[in-house]
Amino acid sequence: MNRIKIFDTTLRDGEQSPGCNMNLKEKIEMARQLEQLGVDVIEAGFAIASPMDFRSVQSIAEMVTGCTVASLARCTKGDIDAAWEAVKCAKHPRIHVFLATSDIHMEYKLKMTREQVVSTISEMVAYARSLCADVEFSAEDASRSDPPFLAECYSAAIASGATVINVPDTVGYSTPEEMSGLITFLRQHVPGIEGAEISVHCHDDLGMAVSNSLACVRAGATQVECTVNGIGERAGNASLEEIVMALKTRKDFYQAETAVCTGQIYRSSKLLSSITGVPIPPSKAIVGANAFAHESGIHQHGVIANARTYEIMNSTDVGIPQNTMVLGKHSGKHALREKLSSMGYSLSDGELDEVFARFKALADKKKVITGSDLEALTLNRIHLNTAGCQLVSHVVNAGYGVPNTSCIKLRRSGKEMEEVAIGSGPLDASFKAINRMLGLNIKLDSFSLNAVTDGEDAIGEAVVKLASGDGIVYTGTGLSTDIIESSIRAYLNGVNKLMEAAAPAAERS
Ligand SMILES: [Zn+2]
Repeated sequence: MNRIKIFDTTLRDGEQSPGCNMNLKEKIEMARQLEQLGVDVIEAGFAIASPMDFRSVQSIAEMVTGCTVASLARCTKGDIDAAWEAVKCAKHPRIHVFLATSDIHMEYKLKMTREQVVSTISEMVAYARSLCADVEFSAEDASRSDPPFLAECYSAAIASGATVINVPDTVGYSTPEEMSGLITFLRQHVPGIEGAEISVHCHDDLGMAVSNSLACVRAGATQVECTVNGIGERAGNASLEEIVMALKTRKDFYQAETAVCTGQIYRSSKLLSSITGVPIPPSKAIVGANAFAHESGIHQHGVIANARTYEIMNSTDVGIPQNTMVLGKHSGKHALREKLSSMGYSLSDGELDEVFARFKALADKKKVITGSDLEALTLNRIHLNTAGCQLVSHVVNAGYGVPNTSCIKLRRSGKEMEEVAIGSGPLDASFKAINRMLGLNIKLDSFSLNAVTDGEDAIGEAVVKLASGDGIVYTGTGLSTDIIESSIRAYLNGVNKLMEAAAPAAERS
């Protein structure tokens, strides 16, 4: 069996996708989950990009001990210094440098000759290696580069001390046959490649990121770069859960395995979706709501007789909770802890207290609390912001043919404040009241409302995307069995994140 390393770039390449930006607390929570998932490398960010990026890479490097923590860097001393400063406290640090090697990138973007590119790679990989024992070199746009020249670039990187060479299909242009052919070519033409890790990084512009990555594994790649739910630039990156489950389910074919704890896949996927407010499509492989549902009678009959007639994987293999469990109004904290731990959540005492309080409030409104309800409450806790504005009450007067008004009362730093506004509907009026009260000028980019659970007393989850003046989009979510309340909570949650990011660093905890 070949051991394939999983390099997760959800927090770097994934976070670059529109509407997927995360704040520090959210990135830390996601990194904690990735460590539990058992990935080999977490690419925590691009340290030089902003002080915020630097801080999150550094915080993750300090916290994570079970995996390598990498920061991306261009081939410049400034980038490499920032990357090293951010990851040096990690138990297993890595600097990941990149430079484009395709003719079109070298001519129009870099304005560098082939000779300049090769000498820059040698110099900068050696510099990174003088700081850090683990250095990965990526040839950006490798799949559209001239293969003999590409081999020369990787030879230079390895000769200068690169421990990993990464072959990206940056623009998602390649096919499985071409990618595996390229890996085979490089294995034959790059001196010293047998001593280095061979990595691939595929994008999904033509829907082939996973197929391309797997073809490379067949050809001898030993590391795959991917993201949870396949998020990433444009059409996204190769999806972690699909790569891992394909290797596991078709071990007979690939003769390869990963160290991923597959029982953590579903939770990782849900957590990311909850943080970013980007829903998982129902028919998404492995983690979509329908991925394990059998609708047709013939299939159902077969599955009842023998699950293996139509099931190639078991939903419990990826950690999908069975939805039969219930808790009621009288269930205590101990029962809640037991249920959550059977679902794979281990919360601190403080976190459990928070979820328990919300569970009790929900149980007052809903007779039966299902696994999905508990999951929604538990995941939503990462959005709670006790330092910002809290909703005290709201009164809306809404209807057809009458003015829609909303009166919102908030508490901020112990002080209560109130504002009334008129709008085109109850939510518009509520959002306007909040904006006026806090003196905000923000744009509502998108709004969605979903029933998290089934039935007439389902929890409604509202997700808002708020755009600030500088174009950054903040995601807010709110939960309630009352959809107006969940919408107001979501808006306020987004507003709190926006105000926290806008506050000077000294005011932040
Ligand atoms: Zn990429």
